[in-house]
Amino acid sequence: MSLISLTNVVKKYSVGKQEVIALDHISFEIKPAKMTVVLGPSGSGKSTALNMLGGMDTPTSGTIWADDQEISTFNDGQLTLYRRDHVGFVFQHYNLIPNLTAAENVGIGSQYSRDAMSPAEALASVGLAGRERSFPSELSGGQMQRVAIARAIAKRPRLLLCDEPTGALDSGTGRTVIELLRSIADTTDTAVVVVTHNASIAAAGDATVTLHDGQLQSHVQYQVPVPVGE
Ligand code: ADP
Ligand code: ADP
Repeated sequence: MSLISLTNVVKKYSVGKQEVIALDHISFEIKPAKMTVVLGPSGSGKSTALNMLGGMDTPTSGTIWADDQEISTFNDGQLTLYRRDHVGFVFQHYNLIPNLTAAENVGIGSQYSRDAMSPAEALASVGLAGRERSFPSELSGGQMQRVAIARAIAKRPRLLLCDEPTGALDSGTGRTVIELLRSIADTTDTAVVVVTHNASIAAAGDATVTLHDGQLQSHVQYQVPVPVGE
């Protein structure tokens, strides 16, 4: 069973008189309780694919089903509700608010959700119990990313979208972040999607979608995850 399925998705951008085909008839699936890695070099269409999954944008053509909703037909208001209710986002540069504490940053992620974890519970689940009152400037890069992950998962999203989540971290710290994302996929129903250009991160996933120049190069499902760095 899949949480999200994309079928023949095309996304074109107009840049002046030029047309850029960012995604060219792409089809793949995202499964719950799995970590799917979207792999490809810069410009291959990864961010565009993430934007489609997360309801930031809709395709030029093709269909995207998320559970029982055809999100490719959604208007802006419907997309806003879809993102709010079902999607958590993790970014390369954490995107924490500097003058808010860790707990306050986490609270922002779930302010509209009724069944959310408390900030303390979410922070504990990423190994940051007791750091509720720390400000981002008092935390290491890896800790800041864990606060960002706590913010994203506090509302118990169906989908957790991570855009180059280790891109600003050294390799050892990046490995612990990937292990944390793996454990979320292993212990919850959340579908974890990690966008990266790093093939060793791809090997840590349950499935890999490889993009090149907007085309689907391969879609490997049911691979055996290999811990990062091995
Ligand atoms: P990646 O995330 O793999 O680097 P992107 O999805 O950002 O790839 O980009 C894929 C292609 O689409 C690139 O050629 C990029 O320049 C183009 N592109 C992406 N977003 C836009 C946009 N908003 N307007 C115009 N072109 C875009
Ligand atoms: P990433 O580092 O994740 O690959 P990019 O630098 O490719 O990110 O893109 C960052 C954002 O800018 C994305 O939302 C993408 O859609 C947009 N973007 C990428 N290329 C272009 C472009 N040529 N024109 C306008 N927006 C773009």
